[in-house]
Amino acid sequence: MNEFELIKRFFSQSKVTHSVLQGIGDDAAVLALPGLNDDLVVATDTLVENRHFPKDAPAAAIAEKALASNLSDLAAMGAKPKWFLLNLTLPEANTDWLNLFSERLFKVAKRHHIELVGGDTTSGPLTISMQLIGTRPREIGLYRKNAMVGDLIYVSGTLGDAAYALNFLPEPEDYWHKRYYQPTPQIMLGIGLREIANAMIDISDGFCADLQHILDASGVGAIVESALLPLSSELKSATGTKAIDYALNGGDDYELIFTVPNTQQTKLETLSQTHKTSLTQVGHITDSNQLEILDEQGHPLTLKRQGFKHFD
Ligand code: ADP
Ligand code: MG
Repeated sequence: MNEFELIKRFFSQSKVTHSVLQGIGDDAAVLALPGLNDDLVVATDTLVENRHFPKDAPAAAIAEKALASNLSDLAAMGAKPKWFLLNLTLPEANTDWLNLFSERLFKVAKRHHIELVGGDTTSGPLTISMQLIGTRPREIGLYRKNAMVGDLIYVSGTLGDAAYALNFLPEPEDYWHKRYYQPTPQIMLGIGLREIANAMIDISDGFCADLQHILDASGVGAIVESALLPLSSELKSATGTKAIDYALNGGDDYELIFTVPNTQQTKLETLSQTHKTSLTQVGHITDSNQLEILDEQGHPLTLKRQGFKHFD
């Protein structure tokens, strides 16, 4: 039983109340409050030592990755983040560690104009959990479940760097260290896509695995041309032909995958310039219920591995 089967079996409820516009099954829950024009968008994410980051990872790096990965879930909903809570489980109360951790935490929080409003502190194996709360206007229909047949599939930034960085322990300030520990949550891009995209998700487990979540939720399929996947020049020179595998299956990039009607392409060019982020079309949505990945010659690729799943 992997994590998704576990959630479905033990925690998914079929009936939810009117106030829950989106419950379990998206990057964040969307909750309606009576009398307000905006909905609350709420997400939580946990990082565990030796699982999400190596033992002895720098405190500042852990703080940034934890907050950025949580912010990324709100980006995937087109939400504006506002507040967060911090649940800290620490093996010891080490002042140096806490100074470095909290300093970076507030630096990233300030960058995104969000405020720490609570949390919980306990002793135990190092685990950082956060809850992010944001808002978005009521009429926004951006969910994993809204991809339409014929939509074009886009991805922001470049893919695969973070997964490659995990092969070794990059030094702080190294390019690969930044790519693993300092992902850029695409908040402004997500907000810009509110009225343009039909479906969106952020890439935490890997491009294929996360695109598959959109397909499952929307009841559609997709064709992706792997040769179109955006790769950094650093990844290409470090890994050669393996770069595509990192881009397809590597997690932790925290870029956005989104689907748009083909009438929206010009708006995307403007968005890409405004936010100085490359937006690359990599495929389109089909009615086949299958994810087909094509190699450079246009032949179907057989995937060895489909992203990271806990308990898999
Ligand atoms: P993400 O990778 O975007 O953070 P996850 O893959 O962790 O999302 O979770 C998938 C969905 O299941 C999300 O909607 C999440 O809120 C929900 N979920 C995960 N764990 C639980 C749980 N223990 N109880 C209820 N819902 C859960
Ligand atoms: Mg997510």
